[in-house]
Amino acid sequence: MRRVAVYPGSFDPITNGHLDIIERTANIFDNVIVAVSNNPNKDHLFNRKERVEMIEEATSDYESIEVDAFDGLLIDYIKQQEAGIIVRGLRAVSDFEAEFQMASMNKKLDSDIETIFMMTKNKYVYLSSSIIREVSELGGCIEGLVPENVIPRLREEIGGE
Ligand code: ADP
Repeated sequence: MRRVAVYPGSFDPITNGHLDIIERTANIFDNVIVAVSNNPNKDHLFNRKERVEMIEEATSDYESIEVDAFDGLLIDYIKQQEAGIIVRGLRAVSDFEAEFQMASMNKKLDSDIETIFMMTKNKYVYLSSSIIREVSELGGCIEGLVPENVIPRLREEIGGE
C-alpha cells in the first residue's frame, strides 16, 4: 500500500525549516503532499498561488513531493487524498500547546488519521515565516534561511537585501 503523508500549513513563505521537514518526511513516506491552506486568522503576504509556486520551485527535484492547495476541514482533505497521516513540525516548546490541541481535535474528528511530529533541526528552531517577513521588511539578510527562489520574490514583494 502506498503511504501518503500530508504536510499542511500556510507557508507564507516557505522557509528552510519547512523544507527540511518536507525532505525528511519524503524519506519516510512514498508520497508527501504539501497542502497550502488559507488561514482566515492570518494576513497573508503572498497569495496562495504564489505560496504554492514557491514550494513547487523549491521541491522540483523530488518526484514524490506534490504541492496542492486546500480549503475547509483538513480531515476531509486527507480522506479525499486517501492519505491517513498528517505531518507537523515542532520547534520550541511554544509550538506544543497549539499543535496538541489541533492533533487532539483531528483525532476526535477521525480516529483513523494519525498526526506525527517531526522535530526541527537545531539551526531552524527560531525560524518562522513571520520573522522572515519582518526581517525582509526591515532590509535584513535572510540568505540561508529560505530557499534561494524565495529571496527574489520577497525582494519584489517588500524590498530588502
Ligand atoms: P500554520 O499556519 O499551519 O502554522 P506554518 O506555515 O506557519 O503554517 O507552519 C506549518 C508547519 O510547519 C507547522 O507544523 C509549523 O510548526 C512547522 N514549522 C514552521 N516553521 C518551522 C521550522 N523552522 N522548523 C520546523 N517546523 C516548522
